[in-house]
Amino acid sequence: MGIQQIEVYTAAMRYEEPFTIAAGTSTKTCNVIVRVLTDYEIYGWGEASPSKRVTGETTETVIEALDKICPKLIGKCPLRIESDVEIMDQVISGNPAAKAAIDIALHDVLGKTARKPLFRILGGYRTEVLTDITLGIKSPKEMAQNAKKALDKGFKALKIKVGVDVDEDVERIRLVREVAGNDIQLRVDANQGWTPKQAMEALNKISRYNIQLAEQPVPSEDIEGLKNVKKNSPVPIMADESVHTPADALRLVREGAVDMMNIKLMKCGGILKAKKIAAVAEAAGMPCMIGCMSESSIGIAAATHLAGAVKNIQYADLDSDILLKDKITTEGGVPLVNSVRKFTNGHGLGIETVDTEFLGKPLRIYK
Ligand code: MN
Repeated sequence: MGIQQIEVYTAAMRYEEPFTIAAGTSTKTCNVIVRVLTDYEIYGWGEASPSKRVTGETTETVIEALDKICPKLIGKCPLRIESDVEIMDQVISGNPAAKAAIDIALHDVLGKTARKPLFRILGGYRTEVLTDITLGIKSPKEMAQNAKKALDKGFKALKIKVGVDVDEDVERIRLVREVAGNDIQLRVDANQGWTPKQAMEALNKISRYNIQLAEQPVPSEDIEGLKNVKKNSPVPIMADESVHTPADALRLVREGAVDMMNIKLMKCGGILKAKKIAAVAEAAGMPCMIGCMSESSIGIAAATHLAGAVKNIQYADLDSDILLKDKITTEGGVPLVNSVRKFTNGHGLGIETVDTEFLGKPLRIYK
């Protein structure tokens, strides 16, 4: 089996409404979609959702990286994913979102070749995945209203964005817990927005609202700060921006800097590397979350299959496709039923129909 052709598309998608976190506001995302075709009439879909803030990537850098990577993969076996990823890493360092697009497409091919849903051949631990929905930063009152709307839609877990001002952040969480009642899981994410001192104050004040975990309270490079916050926090601390690669995960374990880790395909370079992070964390007794960064249904399907496969991925924040107004797929993926992603019997990622009109003509074709 060989890779015969790789097509690269760009897809600009608008958010349903402006989405604000401690680091800024987004109104749209411009992602890169790839289709990897093989000589077996099987093809796979992949997606890169670059984040300048998190990995330094943009739509342009993803395309430039793919310009270097794709020619080297033509003729290679799509099922030798470990070897194909090695080739990508030899061609260019970094550029994890660009590499994730290819990695995801290769895993789609793997599943389709085996004629099984991808999660079943990656480990098949669980058959459905509970996801939260994220409440972007607004006034505490507006966030409580948005929480109510999410609960009405059936969500059982909410991720509350904070990291602006301690008193206001505490108020956000108090009001959301009031609306949610006791049975809804609440997580918070400061996206590096607090100082260690602010984080300790905020976390001690919000612990009474039964908060499951707090993501990235302090800047990513402040490992000492993370450690200090962890030591003084009644709420478990999860690394997000501080963990990109399996080596980062090992460092955080060695430093004892966090209690948990948030894996994202766009930070680590795809499913293969994500499994390695989950394994490092598992060996250290740290549970993982799988998160997202503005992926459409293709990237979200990949992350959900991984979450279904791997025991140590105990939490999921896989909601970006529903926050986007523009949709790439019209059928398939891993549909959301209330708060739960339920796998279909579709092979690979389960993507059935892609809106080719929306996608337009490929920007590049490598063969
Ligand atoms: Mn986060």
